[in-house]
Amino acid sequence: MKRLVLKFGGTSVANLERIALVADIVAARRAECRSIAVVVSAMSGTTNQLVEWTRGAAGPDLHGKDYDDEYDVVVASGEQVTAGLLALALRRKGLKARSWLGWQLKLATDEAHGKARITGCDNPDFIRSVDAGEIAVVAGFQGVDDHGRVSTLGRGGSDTSAVAVAAALKADLCDIYTDVDGVYTTDPRITPKARRIDKISYEEMLELASLGAKVLQTRSVELAMNHRVPVRVLSSFEGPVAKPNTGTLVCDEEQIVEKQVVSGVAYSRDEAKFSMIGVEDHPGVAATIFGALADAGVNVDMIVQASAKTEGRQNIVFTCPDRDAGHAKAVLEKLNGNVGYESMTVSRDVAKVSVIGVGMRSHAGVAKTMFQALSSKGINIQVISTSEIKISVLIDASYTELAVRALHTAYGLDSD
Ligand code: ADP
Ligand code: ASP
Ligand code: MG
Repeated sequence: MKRLVLKFGGTSVANLERIALVADIVAARRAECRSIAVVVSAMSGTTNQLVEWTRGAAGPDLHGKDYDDEYDVVVASGEQVTAGLLALALRRKGLKARSWLGWQLKLATDEAHGKARITGCDNPDFIRSVDAGEIAVVAGFQGVDDHGRVSTLGRGGSDTSAVAVAAALKADLCDIYTDVDGVYTTDPRITPKARRIDKISYEEMLELASLGAKVLQTRSVELAMNHRVPVRVLSSFEGPVAKPNTGTLVCDEEQIVEKQVVSGVAYSRDEAKFSMIGVEDHPGVAATIFGALADAGVNVDMIVQASAKTEGRQNIVFTCPDRDAGHAKAVLEKLNGNVGYESMTVSRDVAKVSVIGVGMRSHAGVAKTMFQALSSKGINIQVISTSEIKISVLIDASYTELAVRALHTAYGLDSD
């Protein structure tokens, strides 16, 4: 192997003991490959604490541009600490190592502070240093914008840093070490019957991640797919040498021999449902509503439109992330006047449950199985949306775990 990238998440670097164990893993992996970059997250819980502090300092009145750039300065600091600590732990073992912060690495991003996108990562000094055998310990989650200001990549963003570093180094493999030993058919915290998946296609992993499986940040999978970076998810809790036949490889669909109709079940509780009743029915209404939401940075997901009881009017139902619900409501209230509607309700106690699988392209009856499984548990479906390889339903949030388990069983995913 020519070059290798390893990434360790928050629980893997939770304290000094864990950091010492990570150093053991890195030292063991050195036997396989001399050119190694290690990307680290902040110690678990640190980022949440830093976010809380920025909110406390800013108070209720600072938003958007007045807040986001300094938010990044604060929350990026967690990764700086772990990068330095791991570099020291590696040196203590007699290895050559140094830390690299986002700006030193030249991990360039746009200016969307708090959720910045990577625009490039080009630093010949970094590559030279890695190839000279000095282990690079990279602070994940952070980059630098065109104005030289610190930016962060959105929660869970160290996964994306790792893939970006792997792409820049043209690494043979990007190993994401976490607290589970791979990608499972569903969140193993929800059901002990979840099974580890040996290999999963980029496309399926992208859907799983974007529909709620937080084991990999969605953008990391997007980036891996675009740059064809082989990504493996594995546990850092198994000692310096991972057991054989563990982990999950995220790779091209062609590399997977055994294809499932449904590969996984994902859920997201970060959902809000808006029901706009009796909306005027003429061309341009949907464009006005969703245009205003887009301009306000609200990411709309499911949309359903149907005739209202009142003649000549429509009902429009849509979902967006729960954290954007307050903002979206204010935008829509301002619109009433431009676009008339009779009433609007917002439900925040909803969840989205999805089944994903490339086999859906060529199999009939996948939706039927889903709807029957939910109805057998008395779970009502509020909204449905589909794409080529997934079906999502919106349900009452209190049924989330029941629905995930029922679907997991219905598609034959339960472990023996
Ligand atoms: P890290 O801190 O290492 O980045 P995360 O907490 O971000 O770790 O991601 C790992 C967690 O993702 C697991 O503990 C697990 O509960 C959750 N998870 C959700 N869906 C899945 C899935 N399908 N397979 C594996 N883990 C999943
Ligand atoms: N520390 C950041 C977070 O908690 C980034 C990461 O862990 O990937 O979101
Ligand atoms: Mg994570």
